[in-house]
Amino acid sequence: MSLTKNYHYILNKIPKEVTLVAVSKTKPATDIEVLYNEGQRVFGENRVQELVEKHEALPKDIEWHMIGHLQSKKVKYIAPFVSLIHSVDSFKLLQEIDKQAKKNNRIIDCLLQFHIAKEETKYGFDLEDVTPLIEKELKELQNINIKGVMGMATFTDNEAIVKTEFKSLKSIFDSLKQNYLPNIEIISMGMSGDFELAITEGSNMVRVGSSIFGGRN
Ligand SMILES: *Cc1c(COP(=O)(O)O)cnc(C)c1O
Repeated sequence: MSLTKNYHYILNKIPKEVTLVAVSKTKPATDIEVLYNEGQRVFGENRVQELVEKHEALPKDIEWHMIGHLQSKKVKYIAPFVSLIHSVDSFKLLQEIDKQAKKNNRIIDCLLQFHIAKEETKYGFDLEDVTPLIEKELKELQNINIKGVMGMATFTDNEAIVKTEFKSLKSIFDSLKQNYLPNIEIISMGMSGDFELAITEGSNMVRVGSSIFGGRN
């Protein structure tokens, strides 16, 4: 199938109230332009340098989402333009985002990434780490806006495991919203292999790459 066909095939499976983040990492700007011409405006990247280069080369009304692990020292490169950072996994990073946002006279929207997978390698908070942080320190950060949560399920064909992990992110979201952050609204979960299950379990933002753009090397 062509890129355009893949895109519409995926788009048709996603309810209107769910945001599709087209994950364009490793793919050329020309691929992004094809989707841009179909109306897609939200793109996700996982490397700072690639994100900066694509932002410079492509139309300025694209909303760029940072979805990959972010080092504090690189925040300054994306702070002028990034529209949502999905992968906030430490308080130190949050402080740096706040600092760089202030320098740019912006408020940067962020998601807190939670560790929901069994795999050791996935980054993210556990709920117990976050609640003391929210109570004490989040209030001091004036230039960040916590919009919701993000998580990645275990890479497995076992749907029961993935479903349990999505349910755990949904319950983390519910608990944060009820107790600490009444304004949060985004649950970013679901990728090419599991976005339909994620939506069933409450996701309202899916990050889909390979089923739109084709496999990566
Ligand atoms: C690459 C990536 C995706 C998209 O993965 P696909 O399986 O290609 O859809 C989603 N989320 C994150 C954090 C990623 O790094």
